[in-house]
Amino acid sequence: MSNEGRAPRRRSTHRHGTASHAFEMPAMPEAVDIFDTTLRDGSQQEGLSLTVDDKLRVAEQLDHLGVAYIEGGWPGANPKDEEFFARAPAELRLSTATLVAFGSTRRAGVRAEDDEVLGHLVKANTEAVCIVAKASELHVTDALRTSLDEAVAMAADSVRFLRQHDLRVFFDAEHFFDGYLENAEFTLRILDAAKEAGAETIVLCDTNGGTLPHDVEHIVSEIVRRFDRQVGVHFHNDSGCAVSNSIAAVRAGATHVQGCINGYGERTGNADLSATIPNLSLKLNVRTIPPDRLERITPVSHHIAELVNIAPAPQQPYVGTAAFAHKAGLHTSAIARRRDAYEHIAPDAVGNGTRFVVSEMAGRSTLALKAQELGLELDSDALSGVLDTLKVLEHRGYHFEVADGSLELLLRRATGWEPDFFELESFRVISDHDERHLTEATVKVMVGDRRVVATAEGNGPVNALDSALRQAIGGEFPKLSGIHLVDYRVRVLDTGHGTGAVTRVLIDTTDGEDLWTTIGVSENIIEASWQALFDSIVYGLLHAASD
Ligand SMILES: [Zn+2]
Repeated sequence: MSNEGRAPRRRSTHRHGTASHAFEMPAMPEAVDIFDTTLRDGSQQEGLSLTVDDKLRVAEQLDHLGVAYIEGGWPGANPKDEEFFARAPAELRLSTATLVAFGSTRRAGVRAEDDEVLGHLVKANTEAVCIVAKASELHVTDALRTSLDEAVAMAADSVRFLRQHDLRVFFDAEHFFDGYLENAEFTLRILDAAKEAGAETIVLCDTNGGTLPHDVEHIVSEIVRRFDRQVGVHFHNDSGCAVSNSIAAVRAGATHVQGCINGYGERTGNADLSATIPNLSLKLNVRTIPPDRLERITPVSHHIAELVNIAPAPQQPYVGTAAFAHKAGLHTSAIARRRDAYEHIAPDAVGNGTRFVVSEMAGRSTLALKAQELGLELDSDALSGVLDTLKVLEHRGYHFEVADGSLELLLRRATGWEPDFFELESFRVISDHDERHLTEATVKVMVGDRRVVATAEGNGPVNALDSALRQAIGGEFPKLSGIHLVDYRVRVLDTGHGTGAVTRVLIDTTDGEDLWTTIGVSENIIEASWQALFDSIVYGLLHAASD
């Protein structure tokens, strides 16, 4: 595959890149510590809200992935984070990661031992803490409204206090890059104070996210050369460079990288660790998470997306469902022969996979590849039959490119397979216009030779049908309880054939590991919903049975 047999990294070309650098770069590290802040900085994202249980589950996933540190939240800032740190020791069994509590330096004019935030940090009962301090003159004078000397004392006193309680201290220098360019002398005083007071790692933060990689490279080089202490970085993505900046910083000698799986965070987010980690591990040979766990990054990214209830972006590098999806036309057979010529890494290195996207534009060879991918044997006649069906259906408004689940069922049917989990006799949906706006659905099905009639309520037709169907067949198929709908999209299509508008319904479903999309098209929105729901459940049962 593409990333095998690569020549060993040549340190010399990196170190003495004098042709492109007017400064000397420190040596690139062998390994870096990955610090995930999804549970603290990441949860600042609009629409992202985690219960304490969710937070515990996210932390488990991060540990399973193998990050070095998990920032769990800000104890004392809200009851949720308070509860998280109280429950973590008993309920979290971390095997690779160290839990970190976050807080800020003491307030101006208050003794460290009297400061409430620092008190909460000690009580959080973690081995390590991370505190943030303003490292920019502007923010000290304008936001804190205190003197530069007091800001330096706040940093020093706070670190010293936490060290006296035997805590490992990570020191987040907030607004570091902007502050360094504006008044380097003051910013360096802050870093010096933290270092001398015993901070283990000095973390350079690009809080406004506006810094570009070439500045990161020379500034981080200067700091790494100046400090005999671990230097870390924390980038926000406001200029679209958070991942690039993290890589530039590591190339310049930083050995601690903060960010969030899937790049969560306020505004444009934090550095996306789902891209940063593979870039460092696979492209630069820098150790990040344990190498044999890199293949967990796609499933973990999707699982966490599920926990935070934000649909994963298909185009996300490395881990997105489209990251290795080829909409093949002319090049299909060439891609099949030499995938490595069309993919920047072997997708399985990150637990992802090559996917061939099928649409009516696709030829036989794409369809044959798709069947092969699914392990289905389709002869030439069967293949022609599927191709014809596909064209007819796409003409009616189906769109199989985005409905991999329904496409798979279509291909399976072409081999003569028919789902026999249950048989629909009829369904009925009633929508009540009252205060509760509930929809009621009744489903009549045959499960084996048993006729079952089930009625359920929901907040719409799909929800009500889904609940009724589950009631009817859930007893027969207990695995159904692990399968649930995560998204539902409706689009009205004007077919332009004089038949009026048709409705296209797409349903995303997950079993916690895989996500599949199914489709229904009809002039009747409820009929379209049923088709998509039927495929969704059949696909889920089919794969649950083969597990
Ligand atoms: Zn941040």
